[in-house]
Amino acid sequence: MEEKFNKILTKIEEADGIVIGASNGLSISEGIHLFADNAAFQENFGDFRVKYGFRSIIQGCFYPFPYEEEKWAFFSRMYDYFLYKGEASSVMKNLYELVKDKNYFVVTSNIDDHFRQAGFPNDRLFEIEGSCRNLQCVNGCHNHIYPGDEILSKMAKHQENGKVPLDLFPSCPECGGPMQVHIEVDRNFLRGESWEASYQAYRDFIEKAHGKKIVLLELGVGARNQLIKAPFMNLANHEEHAAYITFNKGPELFIPDAIAEKSIGIDGNIAEVLQQLVQMK
Ligand SMILES: [Zn+2]
Repeated sequence: MEEKFNKILTKIEEADGIVIGASNGLSISEGIHLFADNAAFQENFGDFRVKYGFRSIIQGCFYPFPYEEEKWAFFSRMYDYFLYKGEASSVMKNLYELVKDKNYFVVTSNIDDHFRQAGFPNDRLFEIEGSCRNLQCVNGCHNHIYPGDEILSKMAKHQENGKVPLDLFPSCPECGGPMQVHIEVDRNFLRGESWEASYQAYRDFIEKAHGKKIVLLELGVGARNQLIKAPFMNLANHEEHAAYITFNKGPELFIPDAIAEKSIGIDGNIAEVLQQLVQMK
């Protein structure tokens, strides 16, 4: 194992560009499980669980709340739950430590904003499915995405019986209509200016790395993931000097034969793997 870890550190050290791809498994290693009806979910969202019957944060995200005051109670509480510690987890700190001096770019489907929280700059980050801390117009009357921190933390604090007072609701500065969190839960999700700019930055990064030593560092992305994993596989296959490094658990760790020679897979707890890599650095 130590040999593998040394090889990973060498690849990172020698890389001209590192693309980090992260999904749900990374959040789980931080202790946040979007799909679980676990003790944390029951503690933080137990009243919603009883009232509406949903059994996980992700089900709550897709739940058709009958009233705005209930919708905002859930989404502001989710925001608070993801970011309440105000400080990045040791998992994210270690990841940042590992690549901070390198030329990197992050692509993630995670909505918890933990990359930014750990110090990853906005212009090196593409959050494909949005972020729990941004707002958009429900009607999509214009393309702008708004920072929602102030309003969301206020709503998280001032809710009673699973409801937020009407006067705290955000409304669209253009059409005056309702707003929603900018995460991909329905067809309203805006792929406007800032989303498109991040997507373009991601494509530019890959284009510039063409032919060079590119490291694809994949963290907790499921074996059948099409959004992040499939493009990574493709790049690993076509880029001559690519190295594909994947951290995952058990059956989710998957390396196709075609890229096996360029790949290093670590089956284990991502939190521990990152910790060890940083210690050995
Ligand atoms: Zn509007």
